[in-house]
Amino acid sequence: MMERTLIIIKPDALQRNLLGEIIHRFERKGLKILGLKMGILSDDVITEHYSHLADKPFFPKIKNFMQSAPVVFMVLEGLEAVSAVRLIAGETKSRNADGGTIRGDYAMSIQANIVHASDSVENAQKEVARFFASEEIFEYKKMDFEWVYSEDERGA
Ligand code: ADP
Repeated sequence: MMERTLIIIKPDALQRNLLGEIIHRFERKGLKILGLKMGILSDDVITEHYSHLADKPFFPKIKNFMQSAPVVFMVLEGLEAVSAVRLIAGETKSRNADGGTIRGDYAMSIQANIVHASDSVENAQKEVARFFASEEIFEYKKMDFEWVYSEDERGA
């Protein structure tokens, strides 16, 4: 299935000069960038986005961390993009993450772990809608499509 997923490139990536590198990884993978923008997360948006962690003792710290600098939001599209992007991100605790993943290659922390990536198709749909207005999502033909996927995969 062609899917869309939401990425947030976190404040530690900006502070550590990794923004271009992270975007480059998703781009080189063959994922299509449909949306890209910078912003600062409000209290309300963080509370909504991390509602599954609201009871955790570290929740106020995540909030501080996520608001400590701007973040970059991206919408990516591809076949099974939600799981593909989670694999590229690596596991939450960066120092346990596999080499070759973003967290495995660039981070040590469980909190400062460079990227957020939607964890299910259902959440991806909610998160894309949370951060992007429909006019901020661009549909366009990408010339590498037939090289990234086989005929069967693209239904040609
Ligand atoms: P993921 O981002 O891998 O989907 P979670 O949804 O469990 O992981 O957590 C959201 C974010 O909260 C993590 O990416 C990380 O920044 C932060 N976080 C998770 N667990 C901890 C923890 N034990 N201590 C501090 N921060 C944490």
